Amino acid sequence: MDAESALPERARVALARLVEGNRKFVAEMPFDADLSAARVTQLAADGQHPFATVIACSDARVAPEHLFRCGLGDIFCIRTAGNTIGPGELASAVYGSAHLGAPLLVVLGHTGCGAVGAALEPGDHGALEPILGKIRAAIGDERDPHAASVANVRAGIDTLRAQTDLARLETVGALAIVGALYHTDTGAVTLL
Ligand SMILES: [Zn+2]
Repeated sequence: MDAESALPERARVALARLVEGNRKFVAEMPFDADLSAARVTQLAADGQHPFATVIACSDARVAPEHLFRCGLGDIFCIRTAGNTIGPGELASAVYGSAHLGAPLLVVLGHTGCGAVGAALEPGDHGALEPILGKIRAAIGDERDPHAASVANVRAGIDTLRAQTDLARLETVGALAIVGALYHTDTGAVTLL
């Protein structure tokens, strides 16, 4: 969490909002995010201005809007099995960050990830290979599932930082790219 204070102001505020939302989620505090019809109407009229872009696993337990206690219009969410980042996900990340102006870009991995687990297993997994190949390249020789999930997040961050538009935004302080891990046993998110 020490790295938080070094973030640009808008990114720091956005990250604090996610951290606070997850604290409420873990504490089972009443859901207070805005899902109202009035919010639907407002967003239709004003358009979306999400405060964060989140790249997360498609795992049904890892729904960012829930675990960060966010409402409609809050998170520009990109989800793939294993939170892998291909050309479409990368373009979506640029859209959320550069076009919509979300100041924070989070790669959110999680414990007990089935995609990471499958990548650790030998053999050809058929149609899953495009995703598993990315994860294998990310984790290298790592065989511990938890460490592999962390390595997969870090590789995702590297992929994002290798993209010209995102790198430029981060250089000028208009964007912060951070990694995080959702713990499926506790509901808590830790920053990496
Ligand atoms: Zn997963």
